[in-house]
Amino acid sequence: MPVASFQSDVYEAAVLALAEARKPAVILFPHSVDTWGYAPAVAMRGGFGCATDVIDVKYDGGDLVAVRAVYAEKLHMEVDFPERETVVLTVRTNVFKPTEADGSPAVSEFAAPQTQARTEHITYIEPEQTGDVDISQAEYMLSVGRGVGEEENVEQFKELADSLGFTLGCSRPIADNGWLPKSRQVGQSGKTVVKCKVYVAMGISGSVQHMAGMKHVPSIIAINKDAEASIFTIAKYGVVGDMFEIAEELRGHFS
Ligand SMILES: Cc1cc2nc3c(=O)[nH]c(=O)nc-3n(C[C@H](O)[C@H](O)[C@H](O)COP(=O)(O)OP(=O)(O)OC[C@H]3O[C@@H](n4cnc5c(N)ncnc54)[C@H](O)[C@@H]3O)c2cc1C
Repeated sequence: MPVASFQSDVYEAAVLALAEARKPAVILFPHSVDTWGYAPAVAMRGGFGCATDVIDVKYDGGDLVAVRAVYAEKLHMEVDFPERETVVLTVRTNVFKPTEADGSPAVSEFAAPQTQARTEHITYIEPEQTGDVDISQAEYMLSVGRGVGEEENVEQFKELADSLGFTLGCSRPIADNGWLPKSRQVGQSGKTVVKCKVYVAMGISGSVQHMAGMKHVPSIIAINKDAEASIFTIAKYGVVGDMFEIAEELRGHFS
């Protein structure tokens, strides 16, 4: 379907027509500001079940159950869809691991109805680059969390990151305290996705919101004095210890 720019009503009509023709059990969208707008409209018009920002999916006795995080991620809620033959889900990005492909999907053509768009794309406005650095472009990152203790301690980790050729990032409390600019914050409400190859997390516990921004990084090295910290569940390499002592060791090796 040739759509030059995003027009939610055109997508909505096309997906609805496709769903009514093919009657799928599930329609999956990536959760984004766009799909958040039109996926529930598709569900409402088609009389389908719907859940947005889904973080897990399972089957309970053959019935689909979607899991959503609610109350600022403090609770997980299970949603079922009794008597709905089709269910629309918008799934959170970076939460589901890609499965190994073991076949070729059947590709068929579908002529979407021509719909008159009620909205018009006028222009795209680049967000103002307010930060000192764009951490989403960093190849190697070293991030500090609340374990850093005090504002004056941040500088030594900045120097360490610089000496290793790493870009300094942080968890939200550090940005909230104003110890580093917000542009350095990794996670759900910061730079959501960092694309680096190596991510060193120092004094970061591993909240779901922080991990949303970095858990896909291939090499995560976690340094935390608490062996039970959640960050170790996703780390490739973990060091249980004091971040200041380990920073000192690293300085010794690389100076
Ligand atoms: C809607 C919402 C959005 C959010 N978005 C984000 C986000 O984008 N990014 C984000 O990071 N958070 C975000 N948060 C906050 C998140 O829930 C956590 O509060 C935050 O990530 C915790 O940061 P932290 O790991 O630095 O601190 P803490 O959870 O306090 O962990 C500090 C860790 O440091 C360790 N430590 C202490 N001293 C040392 C030491 N000397 N050496 C080694 N380890 C030490 C401790 O064992 C502990 O594990 C969000 C929260 C909400 C509700």
